[in-house]
Amino acid sequence: MSAGGALAAVLALLLLLSGCRGRKRNVVLIIVDTVRADHLGCYGYPRDTSPHIDSLAAVGTLWSNVYAQSSWTLPATTTILTGLSERSHRVGMKVSAGEVYGMNEQMPTLATILGSRNYRTAAFFNVYLMSRQFNFDRGFQSFECHDNGHGRAGVTVDQALGWLEEARSDQPFFLAVHLFDPHDPYAPPAPFDTLYAPEGIAGDSVWEFTPEGGLARPSQKEHLMNLYDGEIAWTDGQLGRLFAGLREMGLAESTIVALTADHGEEFLEHGYVGHGRTLYGETVNVPLVLSGPGVPAGRVDSSAASQLDVLPTVLGLLDAGLPDHAEGFDLLAGEVTRSRPIPASGVNTGPPFELASLVMDGRKVLWYPEADTCVAYDLMSDPLEQNPVEADPELQQAVLRYWATPPVFQPVRLESMEVGPALRDLGYI
Ligand SMILES: [Zn+2]
Repeated sequence: MSAGGALAAVLALLLLLSGCRGRKRNVVLIIVDTVRADHLGCYGYPRDTSPHIDSLAAVGTLWSNVYAQSSWTLPATTTILTGLSERSHRVGMKVSAGEVYGMNEQMPTLATILGSRNYRTAAFFNVYLMSRQFNFDRGFQSFECHDNGHGRAGVTVDQALGWLEEARSDQPFFLAVHLFDPHDPYAPPAPFDTLYAPEGIAGDSVWEFTPEGGLARPSQKEHLMNLYDGEIAWTDGQLGRLFAGLREMGLAESTIVALTADHGEEFLEHGYVGHGRTLYGETVNVPLVLSGPGVPAGRVDSSAASQLDVLPTVLGLLDAGLPDHAEGFDLLAGEVTRSRPIPASGVNTGPPFELASLVMDGRKVLWYPEADTCVAYDLMSDPLEQNPVEADPELQQAVLRYWATPPVFQPVRLESMEVGPALRDLGYI
């Protein structure tokens, strides 16, 4: 081939590749509640809790260093769907005032953006905090939310598969699935109840919490964690059915699958159990895996990633254009730097009731507004955040700036009558 011919061939290939990136594709977004990254096999967990998520990672890209923007469901799932931090969307709970806030009705989400681009959209969610009351139905043509969907991973996957069967056509689709099972109380169905916990849920399963958020009997920790791992394994099996369905329907080649969690879970690493009280790694280090057309296969990316990046990365793969206010990065466009500041905030249990954090360049600072104090960690030498170091002034300034961020959209305040019983049911108030 002549030099000119070779150049033409390379140009044709580049055009083809850029065309692949921009062509209309389907999207399945999966949010699994309460799954900390380090309890999945593909993140190095010694137990085989997640063979199907691991398979997704094997054919796609796994980000190994992902930070959630909050440690409880409502603000974190809002971030995933909008690309906005908690300070910018302000969806959540002002605990001291007993006020609860849902999404602004004008705030663009993945569903509203893709719906306006002729996508068929559907959501199957499993917690009251992601219901119509909080405006989570916006942009979804088909929307179902169970108020307290423990044990419903199987039913929800059936619903999703049924919808996919009807939806597959020339029109692209956006399907969002939220599974709630790994959230406490941990009670996986058989045989997952005894997979790691020999005595099962009939064992020492009535958790005794201290008023401060710890365990009255620390010996329960192992059992708690064993059942939690069983919940992850059960949920992973249901996700396996969803992935198999996509393949059987011939949709795997044309569908981008993005999987993440809203937050993690703590097991006494810092004296607490559960989530929504602190912003330590065990509650904010979440998985992020993408696969499908345009996503490099078999890659592990250790650059600093966050929930803020889900929306820009998915829209980048679809060549769909970004809303002006998006705060994250397209992770596949090579824009992410190690020194980017990644914020988190929004807790619903206290004290301290108000808390913000920022990770930058391997360093982390936690800011307690009420006490006006900072606690810092060097994540490179102390990834488990056990030995506080003196807070770097640059990091302190950055977290204060973040805390002072004005809302980009004013959230909608919900009347307490609407939210009280359901939130009590979920153990949040
Ligand atoms: Zn959650």
